[in-house]
Parts: sequence; structure tokens; C-alpha cells
Amino acid sequence: MLLEMKDAVLNYGKIQALHGISVEVNEGEVVSLIGANGAGKTSTMRALSGVRGLSQGQITFNGEDVTKLRADQRLRKGLVLCPEGRGIFPGMTVTENLNMGAYTRKDKSAIDEDYDRVFGLFPRLLERKKQVAGTMSGGEQQMLAIGRALMSRPKLLMLDEPSMGLAPMLIQQIFDIITEISQQGTTILVVEQNAKQALSRSDRAYVLETGNIVKTGTGAELLDDPSVREAYLGVA
Ligand code: ATP
Repeated sequence: MLLEMKDAVLNYGKIQALHGISVEVNEGEVVSLIGANGAGKTSTMRALSGVRGLSQGQITFNGEDVTKLRADQRLRKGLVLCPEGRGIFPGMTVTENLNMGAYTRKDKSAIDEDYDRVFGLFPRLLERKKQVAGTMSGGEQQMLAIGRALMSRPKLLMLDEPSMGLAPMLIQQIFDIITEISQQGTTILVVEQNAKQALSRSDRAYVLETGNIVKTGTGAELLDDPSVREAYLGVA
């Protein structure tokens, strides 16, 4: 197992956002976490990436207890978050943003390989290398955010709402790329409101409701599940 979050409780002051959830990701899998607004998806990502500490519970990554590690320490171990809202640097160029993704690294030749990988996945970014990121379209900015995360050479790439704000065709394209990244050997955990896309692209998934995991199964099982269909896919 690559990642195990066990009995995780996360609080914001008096508000409890996660009520003791457990999530596992095996090496090579694409796992998704679906749920409505406010279900706790982003809180789960914050807890896993180390942006926010847990009040209770444990996170094990690659055989090591990382519960008490800071976000930058987890990043160096390959636990990499591509945050909701993308979090790119709007005043910097595409290349400068990608460089930021590799800032913890010194392995020059491996970094060059990763540039090639990112530009192979996103030819658009190569065409726009010198463009200031803030002037790019939403889809291009999302590609850049994923590209920057890949420049940290993740063992586990965590994507928070990669489809947010994108037109249907672009959503399809972003998920095609997520599938390709997985086929290249990177394990993926994706948080999504777009349940249909997420489930159809995932090996396994968890359904989160008000800070609790209420259901888990393969992507295909959950796509077929009547209560999931009614609540998240808009079909009875
Ligand atoms: P969304 O899709 O809207 O981002 P989500 O599933 O990611 O939803 P979270 O953002 O994790 O949900 O929020 C879970 C709960 O925690 C919500 O009740 C939310 O109001 C609360 N919450 C989130 N961030 C904070 C914060 N910084 N301070 C206080 N409460 C917060």
C-alpha cells in the first residue's frame, strides 16, 4: 500500500470537517473521492498534503508515518498536491511556474527528463513556454498546474477538482491526460465533484458525505450503484 489514512479527524476550530475517515491507495491505482460541496474533499487533501494537521488519526506514506511531517517534507517524499483553484503563479511564465515545481530538486538530468515528460503530455505548454500564466485560458492554467505538480516527481499525485470551471470538452481532455499520467506509472488520488468522469476513470472510489466515508467500491460498481446514481449522477 502506498498511502493509508486511518481514522482521520480534522477540525477548523469548533467545526469538525472530517469525522474519522480512512482512505487507502495502492501503488499504480487511480482512486477518486467524490462528494457534494462541503463534504470534506478539500479538507482530506489538505490533511494528506500536510497543509492542515489532523486532530486524530494517522497517515502512512510509502511505509513511513508522515502524520507529523510538514507539507514541504511530505512533498520531498513524493506526496504532491495539485490544489483546488490551481494555485499557479499568475505573474510568472509557464517555464518559471514549472521551475517552481522542481525547486526542491537538484537532479538536473532527471529534471530535464521531467520537462520532456510534461511537454509531451501538454504540447500546448511548450508552445506557450514564455507566456505569462495569468493570461492563459482556464484549461491551459489547469494543464500548467498539473505540469508543475509533475515537476516534483510525485509518487502519489493528488488532484483537487481538476475539472473545476472547465467546459465539457476540456474536462474530457484533462481526464484523458490523468489516465495517461497513470499509465506512465504515477499513482493518482483525485477529488472531484464531476462524479461521472471521476468514477469512469478510477480503479476504486470513496463517497464522502459530511465528513464521513459512506460508500466505497470499484469505479464501475459505484457507477452502477442506485444511490450514487441518484445523488451524484443525476439519474434515478
Ligand atoms: P467544496 O467542493 O465546496 O470545496 P469540499 O468537499 O472540498 O467542498 P471542504 O472544503 O473540505 O469540502 O469543507 C468541509 C467542511 O469544512 C465544510 O463544512 C466547510 O464549511 C468547512 N471548512 C472548510 N474550510 C474551512 C475553514 N478554513 N474554516 C472553517 N471551516 C472550514
